[in-house]
Amino acid sequence: MTALLETQGLKAFYGDAQALFGIDFSLAQGELVAIIGANGAGKSTFLKSLTGLVRAPREAIHFKGEPIGGLPPGEIVRRGLAMVPEGRRLFPSLSVEENLLMGATAGRKGPWDLQRLYALFPILAEKRQQPGTSLSGGQQQIVALGRALMSNPELLLCDELSLGLAPIVIREIYAAMPTITGEGMTVVIVEQDVTMARQVSQRIYCLQEGRVSLEGRSCDLTREQISQAYFGIGEAAHA
Ligand code: ATP
Repeated sequence: MTALLETQGLKAFYGDAQALFGIDFSLAQGELVAIIGANGAGKSTFLKSLTGLVRAPREAIHFKGEPIGGLPPGEIVRRGLAMVPEGRRLFPSLSVEENLLMGATAGRKGPWDLQRLYALFPILAEKRQQPGTSLSGGQQQIVALGRALMSNPELLLCDELSLGLAPIVIREIYAAMPTITGEGMTVVIVEQDVTMARQVSQRIYCLQEGRVSLEGRSCDLTREQISQAYFGIGEAAHA
């Protein structure tokens, strides 16, 4: 079976500084895969490479069998990849509903529209006229997720959805994931909370210093394997 998304030997640089050292990654349609790893491991850089925000060689990334590395971000969204960025990045002068509609500008057809989103997250309907940035952090995160869904992506990339949010909001967001993947959408989450990552994902990739240090089915990986891959062998002994 062809992978929905595949990277081979993906490298990334910020100027002279190398951040990714050859990432091999593969994703089947309908999977929910978590990427874990310590601060600075390269998780955000990996997602940014996939979405065209960090430069990548054309052949290093294939989406639906076609090379997409280094394409402009707008073109990548039109092909069906959408990202919920770390820090949410809502448009401050726009209402919740206007922020959501910005997600639909790529013009892709699919199951997600305002009505569908409001049914999944009633808080969005309740607050739809308010400025997006007047909402609580958790509510803003839901807007950012909703905006990405409005582009009807085939692959949704979520960068640290739970960062700085209360546990109850994190649970609410992750509780929506089965509905999101239920119609065949494929999801990648970057998640610092390893327990949550194991609970919600089918597979895990752990990054360490710009390399894949572990990959496997979430239910098969042991805590020891994960902490070794997460912290490195030397530090794992003290973890
Ligand atoms: P975090 O959990 O802290 O977001 P991360 O795993 O997402 O970490 P990245 O943000 O991808 O890690 O960072 C990977 C490496 O690239 C780090 O060494 C980081 O310092 C470097 N880096 C990230 N963004 C930039 C940038 N804009 N300019 C220069 N170096 C950067």
